[in-house]
Amino acid sequence: SPEIDRARSLIRVVQDHPVPGVAFQDITPLLADARAFRACVEALVEPFAGSFDVVAGVEARGFLLAGAAAMLTGTGLVPLRKAGRLPAPVASASYALEYGEAAIEVSVDLHTGDRVLVLDDVLATGGTLAAAARLVRERGAHVAGAACLLELESLGGRAAVPDAHALIRV
Ligand code: 5GP
Repeated sequence: SPEIDRARSLIRVVQDHPVPGVAFQDITPLLADARAFRACVEALVEPFAGSFDVVAGVEARGFLLAGAAAMLTGTGLVPLRKAGRLPAPVASASYALEYGEAAIEVSVDLHTGDRVLVLDDVLATGGTLAAAARLVRERGAHVAGAACLLELESLGGRAAVPDAHALIRV
């Protein structure tokens, strides 16, 4: 759509961040634009309308989308936080990074049987979104869907989350 095309044009590519050779896709200008931000959040939730009761946002940029999506759809929000940040985590899922491992954790606020829409900003290798879905299932909750603003297709992350809904692909 024209609105999503416009949102795409607002993503800023920052060369050599966070390390030399990486072209980082910076969504800050998109979030700062009222029309683009609203259009993206609406399009993120649209395929899953009525099929979820909770939005789970992945730390940190996933929080920004999840808060807006939860308010828009009248659902609750549960943060999926990096290991060590929650005061009382009850489940965790680890995933591979380029060097080493990371983990995300969730609190007791995600319940058995909850229908969950998982949101993050970017799908790169897919490790983060796949771990988020595993964490939701670990709690006995149901993954109604997983969605991201931007998919970096060359990294092949879709293999890890085949059903992910991506608004913009580069
Ligand atoms: P993955 O686990 O799919 O390799 O990486 C996805 C995670 O890393 C997401 O949580 C995302 O925030 C972050 N990420 C990786 N590459 C980029 C990028 O180019 N831009 C942004 N904004 N986030 C990225």
